[in-house]
Amino acid sequence: MIEANRTGLLIDGVWREASGGTIPVIDPSDGQIKGQIGRATKEDVDLAVQAARRSLKGDWGNLAAVDRGRLLTRLGTAVLDHFDQLAAAEALDTGKPTRQARADITALARYFEFYGGAADKVHGETLPYLRGYTVMTLREPFGVTGHIIPWNYPVQIFGRSVAAALAMGNAAVVKPAEEASLTALIIGQLALDVGFPPGALNIVPGYGEEAGAALTGHPDIDHISFTGSPEVGTLVQQAAARHHRPVTLELGGKSAQLVFDDADLAAALPVVVSAIIQNAGQTCSAGSRVLVQDGIYDRFVGALADRFAILQVGSSAQDLDVGPVINPKQQQRVDAYIERARADGLQILAQGRISPGAPAGGFYVKPTLIGDVPPDHALAQEEVFGPVLTVIRFRDEADALRIANGTPYGLVAGAWTRDGGRQLRLARALEAGQVFINNYGAGGGVELPFGGVKHSGHGREKGFEALFHFSTIKTVAIRHE
Ligand code: NAD
Repeated sequence: MIEANRTGLLIDGVWREASGGTIPVIDPSDGQIKGQIGRATKEDVDLAVQAARRSLKGDWGNLAAVDRGRLLTRLGTAVLDHFDQLAAAEALDTGKPTRQARADITALARYFEFYGGAADKVHGETLPYLRGYTVMTLREPFGVTGHIIPWNYPVQIFGRSVAAALAMGNAAVVKPAEEASLTALIIGQLALDVGFPPGALNIVPGYGEEAGAALTGHPDIDHISFTGSPEVGTLVQQAAARHHRPVTLELGGKSAQLVFDDADLAAALPVVVSAIIQNAGQTCSAGSRVLVQDGIYDRFVGALADRFAILQVGSSAQDLDVGPVINPKQQQRVDAYIERARADGLQILAQGRISPGAPAGGFYVKPTLIGDVPPDHALAQEEVFGPVLTVIRFRDEADALRIANGTPYGLVAGAWTRDGGRQLRLARALEAGQVFINNYGAGGGVELPFGGVKHSGHGREKGFEALFHFSTIKTVAIRHE
């Protein structure tokens, strides 16, 4: 049974009512209000930051790395023990197909397990220096870390950001998205149950411009990790700059997959489709552009169109190919892009269909394949954040590379080719934080560092790399004879 009424905020190890009232929990599958969550204010956020600061000087700050790791590992086990409850809450909040929600909970548990195991394996160094000196580096937590989470992958992004920060000994204040906070609140309770000391993990749901802005502009926050839109990312970086605080920004993308004449087309086809329809295209790393070489264009794009034409859209519980998008605003945004494509004379090659069984009132959009899009068109440049795949034709490798790198973004790129030399050239030349050759996404692996270049952001999360981004180095030089 999902408890969709979770109006408390987790501050200093206790649940307290939000001082800003409540925010409705809306189910994207049918548009109905299913519960309420708390709406944190600036005052609530301030209490959370103070609690986090105290915990660093108390029980949490005094824990050995191995014991922080044990707590995280226990939290991973608790996630698995509450798997169905978490998956149901994630599906309710986001509308994503049930199997996707369940895959996301598996990933959440993996983040806690991975960073639980890593907590005592990151350390400083001793450095060769002048005679009579011993010099070492101490790797230390920043202190209080703020985490702003979006609605598209609430548990995965909570896991990758917060688990790494806690592993390094930071105390976290988390602001989940107003559209999808239920799982963050459940994780908060599980953290209490497994014994996290008060203040180590604080959770303050609320609106972005209210609780989010209060957190990112707070003078006593030592690091901000933000995942969301480039526009808000700019605001976050500006707010942090006022106090000269470091930020990790995970922003949007317009990621390309390049399909060359010599590719294994049978292998590429299902991956190209799933890379854009997963989570109804609301994935920062969605493969939203496919660049197809002249020689196979008709054959490959024809096969893509056949696939798109049979895609089915429905509720989370129907568990079809594509779920609803998050809210009416997102639905209108995606539909407006499709209308614009039509109005500009682009070819709509195929569209999926909304299942007759999908509940009325859900926020559904049709997966859409658009052909021969000029590389400078809005559909080839802007992040739609919906199940809309833009097809672009290219002549040769140089042409493909120019088009692939020719957007403001640089999050992920993929290439399908059997030519080994080309694989290596592309791996180096593609402007992206991750490059996949003859696959895309590698199943999301928690071990794989992730982040962007250009307008896709900076800093890295996931893998061991995240531990360096959630800690800082102190150099200690000791003079002796
Ligand atoms: P958003 O920027 O509107 O919201 C993200 C979070 O920021 C939410 O928690 C929101 O409450 C908060 N927020 C909003 N205004 C704020 C403010 N003024 N100060 C502080 N916090 C504020 O983004 P969204 O619509 O939820 O997510 C979609 C975007 O996120 C897309 O652009 C997508 O590409 C990007 N994204 C990136 C990644 C990544 O890892 N690179 C992952 C997921 C989503």
